Amino acid sequence: MMGVKMEKFKVSVVVPAYNEEGNLTRLVQTLLPILSVYNDYEIILINDGSSDKTIEVMKQLHHDNSRVHYISLSRNFGHQYALKAGLDAAIGDCVISMDADLQHPPRLIPALIDGWQKGYDIVYTTRQDKGTESFFKRFSSEFFYKFFRVLTGLKIPAGAADFRLLDKKVVQTLKNMPEKALFLRGLIYWMGFKQFAISYQVEPRFSGRSSYSLKKMLGLAIAGATSFSIKPLRLAIYLGFIVALLGCLSTAYVLYMKLFAGSVITGWSSLMCVLLILGGSQLFVMGIIGEYIGRIFVEMKNRPNYIIDETSLEQK
Ligand code: UDP
Ligand code: MG
Repeated sequence: MMGVKMEKFKVSVVVPAYNEEGNLTRLVQTLLPILSVYNDYEIILINDGSSDKTIEVMKQLHHDNSRVHYISLSRNFGHQYALKAGLDAAIGDCVISMDADLQHPPRLIPALIDGWQKGYDIVYTTRQDKGTESFFKRFSSEFFYKFFRVLTGLKIPAGAADFRLLDKKVVQTLKNMPEKALFLRGLIYWMGFKQFAISYQVEPRFSGRSSYSLKKMLGLAIAGATSFSIKPLRLAIYLGFIVALLGCLSTAYVLYMKLFAGSVITGWSSLMCVLLILGGSQLFVMGIIGEYIGRIFVEMKNRPNYIIDETSLEQK
C-alpha cells in the first residue's frame, strides 16, 4: 500500500564506529530523546576493531539503556563491512544508518522517517559542506563521484554519504546479496525502489580524527568502480588499441624513411619512447585485469564479510 505505513513501527539506528570513544556517549544522548517519540526503537553500535575504549563505552551505554546494543567485530573490517554487520542485525521496520562522529545530524531523523511514511523505501541524504570539511576532502570526494559516474554509468548522487533510511524490504534485499566487495552507496542506488533525497549541512567531527585516509579512500574508489561495471576492462581495450595504432604508424614512418628518404633513424630515444608507452600501458591493463581476477578470487573463497566477536544482541 502506497502512502500510509503502519502506525506502530520499530526504528533501528545503525552506527559503525572505529575509535570513537569520545563521540558515542554524546551521540546516544542526542539520539535517545529524538527516538523516544516513536513507539519502538533500537540503537545498534558496531565496534569495528577499535584500538581505544570504544567497546567499553558501548558496554556502558548498553548497561544504561537496554535499547542500545553493540556488536563487536573481531578486527577492523572497514566502514562498509561494519555497516553491513549492523544492517544484518537490525530488525526495525525502517533502518537508519549514520556515522558515529555526529557529522550526520541526528535532528534529521524525523525528516527521514517522514519521507519513509510518505511511502519512500529509501530516504538518502546528500551533504553540502561549506567549509566544514578540508579542501582536500571536498576535492577528492567530488573527483570520486565524477570518476565513478564516468566509469560505471551509474549516476549516484554527489555527496551521498552513508546516512540514510532503508525500508525493511530493502534491508532484506541487501542481506540476500552475496557480494564481498561492498560499496553500499552504489549498491543501494543500483537496487532502485522509491528513493527520496534530503540535503543537509555536514557538521564538523565532534571528537577524534577522521579515519578515512587517502589509502582507504582510494581503496573505496577502486572497489566502487570495479564492482559496478566492466567498463574499466573496456578502457583497457581502447588503450591497447590506441597504443598499437601509434606503434603501427611509427613503424610505417620508420620504414618510409628507410626505403624512400634513405635516412636511418639512429638514436635510442625513439625506441625508449615506444618501449615506455608500451610497457606502461601493458602494466596498466594488466593491473585492471588483475583487479578483476582478484575480485573473482575473493568472491570465490566465499568468506564472511565480517566476523562477530561479541554482541549484546541475540545471535541468529
Ligand atoms: N569507520 C568504521 N571503520 C573504519 C573507518 C571508519 O567503522 O575502518 C566509521 C567511523 O567510526 C565513522 C564512519 O565510519 O562512524 C565514518 O568515518 P570517518 O568519520 O572517519 O570518515 P569521514 O567522515 O571523514 O568520511
Ligand atoms: Mg566523519
